[in-house]
Amino acid sequence: MRVRDTLTGRKVAVAPAPRKPLTLYVCGVTPYESGHMGHAFTFSMFDVLLRFFEANGVRVKYVQNITDVDDPLFERARRDNLDWRELAGREIQVHIREMTVLGWRPPDVLPRVSEEIPQILAAVTKLHAKGFAYRTDELYFDASKYRGFGNLSHLSRRSMLRKLRHEGLLGRVGPDAKQDALDFALWRRSGPDEPAWPSQFGDGRPGWHIECTAMSMHYLGEQIDLHGGGRDLVYSHHESERAQSESLTGQKPFARAWMHTGLVRYEGYKMSKSRGNLVKISEATQMAPAAAVRLYLVTHRYGRDWTFEWKGLERASRYIEQVRKFLADDARFDYGRRPPKPDPKLMAEFNAALADDLDTPRAVRALRAALRQGDAAAVRAMKEVLLGSTDLS
Ligand code: ZN
Repeated sequence: MRVRDTLTGRKVAVAPAPRKPLTLYVCGVTPYESGHMGHAFTFSMFDVLLRFFEANGVRVKYVQNITDVDDPLFERARRDNLDWRELAGREIQVHIREMTVLGWRPPDVLPRVSEEIPQILAAVTKLHAKGFAYRTDELYFDASKYRGFGNLSHLSRRSMLRKLRHEGLLGRVGPDAKQDALDFALWRRSGPDEPAWPSQFGDGRPGWHIECTAMSMHYLGEQIDLHGGGRDLVYSHHESERAQSESLTGQKPFARAWMHTGLVRYEGYKMSKSRGNLVKISEATQMAPAAAVRLYLVTHRYGRDWTFEWKGLERASRYIEQVRKFLADDARFDYGRRPPKPDPKLMAEFNAALADDLDTPRAVRALRAALRQGDAAAVRAMKEVLLGSTDLS
């Protein structure tokens, strides 16, 4: 399979090392509120990728992290007068339930930051010992020590600073703070009602980016085959993660390919909490069968931005009803001991589509062709990959 790598902009072949599973790391959620279509799009796309590999006999080891030590989580817990652990625990269950409804093959590991502190501190300590970090009010990674900072996101220094300001991560530059605005915290001080872990850098908690370096290396090794996430993570999260990971091990590349999903818009703007224009997963699955929600998601190219429209979901629902009826009729038919095999031509087109940078719209057209031909075996095989374990009704 070939995917377009965010770093080089070129399509690169992705395959596991001999006798090893393919390693896939996808940045997960901060568990403080239920998921929306942006989350559903990202995780469904990586589910199609994973199922495509597995349907073709490639083993995959899939890790998706949970950022349960994070400012928005603490703010929400404070607002709702809850213990942060209680809020995180509840929202993690919601996330798992929603993704189960959307038919995912669960990640092999769903590590939580709060349970990975020893690995994270080991990475922080090693970066400090190797001279990539400095300590003022907090412990920072020195971005100037990494050549090529900005190459993943293809952003100028000015654009990176603008994004940091937009994300509220710009911080302060000064003798008792950051030396440069692009530097980022590896280990921070905790607020009075926030968790703190003892370390040689003072009691505190990890900075945001280091968690994914530590967890991906702990579960998947120093280099991974595929690293994914939503496009809004390219800078600052993945840029920073790449810099600290390669500095930590001296091994390049940290990820053999980077894949980023596009943003979902609604009512003219990117779906976002701050704007309040969210379509929640639970709203969509109330309006339509889960298989229709997932079909609607995968009719879009993973890397492109697109606009959610209820009309589009309705169209997908009508189509899923046709698929459901067709498969129900077929299940009543007695093929005897020789159930038919899918038409190899149909399957070849389907597989070629996904092997070419996960072209799911083209794969959906192959599914439509299989339905038109009345090839139930092909419809089942394609549905398994595109729609996962979702319910058709
Ligand atoms: Zn991450």
